[in-house]
Amino acid sequence: MSIRSMLEKEEQSRLSPYAARSVQSRGREYPISDDFTRTEYQRDRDRVIHSKAFRRLQFKTQVFLSPEGDHYRTRLTHTLEVGQVARTIARGLLLNEDLTEAIALAHDLGHTPFGHIGERTLNRLNPEGFKHYEQSVRVVERLEGVRGLNLTWETRDGIANHPGGRTASTLEGQVVAKSDRIAYINHDIDDALRAGIIIAEDLPQEALGVLGQTHGERIDTMITDILKQSQGKSAISMSKEVQAATDTLREFLFARVYQDDWRHEEERKCDFILTMLFEYFQAHYLEMPEESLVIAHEEGVQRAVTDFLASMTDRFAMRLFDRLFVPEAFSVI
Ligand code: MG
Repeated sequence: MSIRSMLEKEEQSRLSPYAARSVQSRGREYPISDDFTRTEYQRDRDRVIHSKAFRRLQFKTQVFLSPEGDHYRTRLTHTLEVGQVARTIARGLLLNEDLTEAIALAHDLGHTPFGHIGERTLNRLNPEGFKHYEQSVRVVERLEGVRGLNLTWETRDGIANHPGGRTASTLEGQVVAKSDRIAYINHDIDDALRAGIIIAEDLPQEALGVLGQTHGERIDTMITDILKQSQGKSAISMSKEVQAATDTLREFLFARVYQDDWRHEEERKCDFILTMLFEYFQAHYLEMPEESLVIAHEEGVQRAVTDFLASMTDRFAMRLFDRLFVPEAFSVI
């Protein structure tokens, strides 16, 4: 018997009736033969981890732009934190941990350089609009590798439906959506404190009374609450009290960290860099890499330029801007 069949049997007997079982997957766009060792969702997870888009996450902004400090989150460490929170919840609810991990690791693959500033800029520049979660789907279905990563339907559904206001078809996808929020609310507070943008006394005290005084306590409260509320149920939810306190922290972050004055000057620069690059490559699209030219040919130049810019890391975008628009210093020794 293959190890895969053993794991599939184990999924069958151990997981909750609400879990997604890999043998019941709706499958992939292009069928592939069975693996000896891994279930379908484990293969999805591995395909994501070995992708170039996943490696680029390490040089993409989470909130703090191309952080100088060694301890700020990047899009990659955010992704790993989401994965960890999500797996803890999935395991506790007897859901499919492999599917949960695959969705979590892929959820932000389409994120732009410069975090949400980059997303807003591309949304403004492309008349068809730009959303990072749609781009994440595009990365796994089209841009990565030859014909995308060819992931299962359930993983792609989870990626497409991770932002608030959307609901994934599997509970595993719903777990990732909640875990994304848990991760960023907590780590963005931690990073904002580290940067000195806020001080501990600024945090809404009533919410901390419910969630806990420390970073670790707050994550633990949120996860435990979801586990207690969702056990044996067909949806993932938080209790009213913990949800309200979590929302209060999120609103606080929006007011004091994400949209505050300290960001405006940097935002303007990032917006300018991407706008200049967008215009340049619209006019000189043949200077883009080979894979972008294929997209330009099949789906138009605008789409190809958008994909190219979205794929960039912060440092790549800044170096390219430098090379294209800043005269080289001329040194005389
Ligand atoms: Mg995220």
